[in-house]
Amino acid sequence: MKFNTKVIHGGQEHDLAYGAVMPPIYQTTTYAQTTPGGHKGYEYSRTHNPTRHALESAFASIENGKYGLAFGSGLAAIDAVMKLLKPGDEVISTNNLYGGSYRLFTKIFQDFGIKFHFVEMENVSHIETYINDNTKLIWVETPTNPMMNIIDIQAVSILSKKHHILLAVDNTFATPYLQQPLELGADIVMHSATKYLGGHSDVVMGGLVVNDKALADKLYFIQNASGAICGPQDSFLVLRGIKTLHVRMQRHCENGKAIAYFLKTHPKIDKVFWPGFEDHPNHAIAKSQMKDFGGMLSFTITGNDYKQAIKTVENLKVFTLAESLGGVESLCGHPASMTHSSIPKSEREKIGIVDSLIRLSVGIEDVDDLIADLQQALS
Ligand SMILES: *Cc1c(COP(=O)(O)O)cnc(C)c1O
Repeated sequence: MKFNTKVIHGGQEHDLAYGAVMPPIYQTTTYAQTTPGGHKGYEYSRTHNPTRHALESAFASIENGKYGLAFGSGLAAIDAVMKLLKPGDEVISTNNLYGGSYRLFTKIFQDFGIKFHFVEMENVSHIETYINDNTKLIWVETPTNPMMNIIDIQAVSILSKKHHILLAVDNTFATPYLQQPLELGADIVMHSATKYLGGHSDVVMGGLVVNDKALADKLYFIQNASGAICGPQDSFLVLRGIKTLHVRMQRHCENGKAIAYFLKTHPKIDKVFWPGFEDHPNHAIAKSQMKDFGGMLSFTITGNDYKQAIKTVENLKVFTLAESLGGVESLCGHPASMTHSSIPKSEREKIGIVDSLIRLSVGIEDVDDLIADLQQALS
């Protein structure tokens, strides 16, 4: 099956009871047994639920993986990956990552004796200098949030395989429509399905996909033992979202491109960060590992003018000032005071998150309205 067919049919079976085309929402905690242990594969909904199972199969299918797992949020999915580790283990993470991931690593797992190195990964050789016998996991996010840097997944996977280290890729920004990390050698793909997979800003959800059976079994064990699962109603909504992922992503990419070019020539704007520009430092890698360049971009105001940045996000009318991304509606954000405020200012600025930086999640509205909105907000 090709991708556009998979998003609709991948991993799905018609309902055996009545032939329902959409998976029923099995809003139940438990399942009747005919004799102790005599059940149809479902005992208790933390462990298994048919609606969640349909979603987990869809996750696996669209990422070209074998095993999918759904969680109550993206961070719950990352939390489950971190629980593969033990005190003394070390993780090498990109230094330009989602603020909540950074907070989970430094404020929770560091206290459990796991050591994190935050490394600039655009140059893959930087990673190798941090590898030692305790290194168990490399954590990659690409494109990075919010600077839109691109990390070469295949090059990192060659390194991780050489040293027998797990490679996990947060694929939230790209989605499997644009990039399939398992195909590029990653061991774990992680999603905040809250974003593009759900796609309608109405569900918080996380996902993991892996190919290795032993790794999948460990993660299923953690999912059940720690219990950060999602409910059947939310599973249904994300399944529905995934069915239009390809058409939404196509429009996100088209609109994102038009806005990137509009901003690039605007006099009040200093830099535009979008991997589709030929002068983007990692454009060649983006072009080789991604199908297109997505709907996320960020920019800075000339003179790093903080006041002008705040005014701009306040003045936008079609773009809503809000956290999150990846929904059908356009959103704008001010990373330094919103999504990335949990990262200390000095650390933030080292990675380019200056006070005039604005991030856009370009939606699928009419692009003329989006450009007119940016035009009026900047003037
Ligand atoms: C939102 C996000 C997360 C966290 O996901 P939640 O669903 O909010 O818990 C992780 N990584 C990236 C890149 C994100 O954008």
